[in-house]
Amino acid sequence: MNDNENPLLNPKFDIPCIGGGYKKLSNKEYSLATICTQGGWQPANGGPRALPIFQSTTWRYATSEEMGKLFDLEASGYFYTRLQNPTDDVVANKIADLEGGVAGVLTASGQAASFFSIFNIASAGDHVISSASIYGGTLNLFAVTLKKLGIEVEFVDQDLPEEEYDKYFRPNTKCVFGETLTNPNVKVLDIEKFARIAHKHGVPLIVDNTFPTPINCRPIEFGCDIVIHSTTKYLDGHACATGGIVIDSGNFDWDKHADKFPGLTTPDESYHGLTYTKAFGKLAYTIKLVAQLMRDIGAQQGPMNAFLLNHGLETLHLRMPRHSENAQKVAEFLESRPEVEWINYPGLKSSPDYELAKKYLPNGCSGVIAFRVKGGRKEASEFIDRFRFIGVETHVAENRTIVLHPASHTHRQLTDEQLEAAGIPVGLIRLSVGLEDVNDIIADLKQAFENK
Ligand SMILES: *Cc1c(COP(=O)(O)O)cnc(C)c1O
Repeated sequence: MNDNENPLLNPKFDIPCIGGGYKKLSNKEYSLATICTQGGWQPANGGPRALPIFQSTTWRYATSEEMGKLFDLEASGYFYTRLQNPTDDVVANKIADLEGGVAGVLTASGQAASFFSIFNIASAGDHVISSASIYGGTLNLFAVTLKKLGIEVEFVDQDLPEEEYDKYFRPNTKCVFGETLTNPNVKVLDIEKFARIAHKHGVPLIVDNTFPTPINCRPIEFGCDIVIHSTTKYLDGHACATGGIVIDSGNFDWDKHADKFPGLTTPDESYHGLTYTKAFGKLAYTIKLVAQLMRDIGAQQGPMNAFLLNHGLETLHLRMPRHSENAQKVAEFLESRPEVEWINYPGLKSSPDYELAKKYLPNGCSGVIAFRVKGGRKEASEFIDRFRFIGVETHVAENRTIVLHPASHTHRQLTDEQLEAAGIPVGLIRLSVGLEDVNDIIADLKQAFENK
């Protein structure tokens, strides 16, 4: 199948009422700013300028034969929004263009994206290697829920020398997983190192690129095979719409490691014996994800959310540099305060990941800072209570400056000792620096330190 026939690259937008379609703007040809504003939706002559919300669960056809071909993956077109929706496809492919991937699939949340990215290539009896420094929700998904499904995830220190990882690989290892910038400790993943390790053992590297966004880092350029995001964070930015995305680079050669990935390289009985790699080439992983996982599990992003997400994308290239500049100044301010016991922001020279950040995040390290104030649980939560406009929210990476204190919020059931063991000491505060005037943000922090 060539690119022009691929349903995911060229969704069938010649349905008369639609009035436009997805247009690929490659990040090799256009700058990210241009893709953010002009990418994705392209109106037909006289078509609507804004991306329409196709708020329809289903699509009508004239003959049963036409619809039958869609079910057999023989023709491209929409039939049920649990699998595909044009609003979603436009936005997913626009984000894939920003990342430099071949195709993307939107999911209902970042959690669904992490789950699908792995479950698409691993099943009961398989083994996955993940960095231990990952978002708490992902950690639960991997350590508890995937385990119940029979997939064993082994957690490794992401800062070991390259040679030390060979011992973790087994014949049933199916992928390696990490976060470009970890949540909440903002450590930087050495993507090239992990890509080399994964490829040496014939498996893909999956990277969660939520915090950098493609504006600050594009993991595919460093050898990563599959990129996921919680679009709930910066990509939306406005804290309006929960969502996620799975993007395939199209670079991993599944057929070369066919014995490890039978789901992609041997016939799928639920599609009359079609083999994804043979039928769809570089789109095999993406089409399997839509045709099997979306069909069977759902978790499609609603088209209204995709529309809101697209609004965020149109200014992503303007917002990310401001988050990074503001966070750099706030981090320097925090580092200068006697009340701060420890701070990590990869843009600070004192950060152990400063050199990695120069390589992977040359344009800025985004807006998230981890720091600890002196004292315990009480001192940290009293400090937070003194903020004037900085909000206490279970969220991160959005337009407004917000703060979360894991010991008082997300991890409040844990004892001080348990928190220490989990690498989240009682005093740890995650500050997500927003787009306000940086002087106002610093003034709010300063008065919270001083008005004891
Ligand atoms: C929030 C987050 C997730 C989970 O995303 P949801 O949209 O909340 O499901 C995954 N990874 C990272 C790095 C996150 O910050």
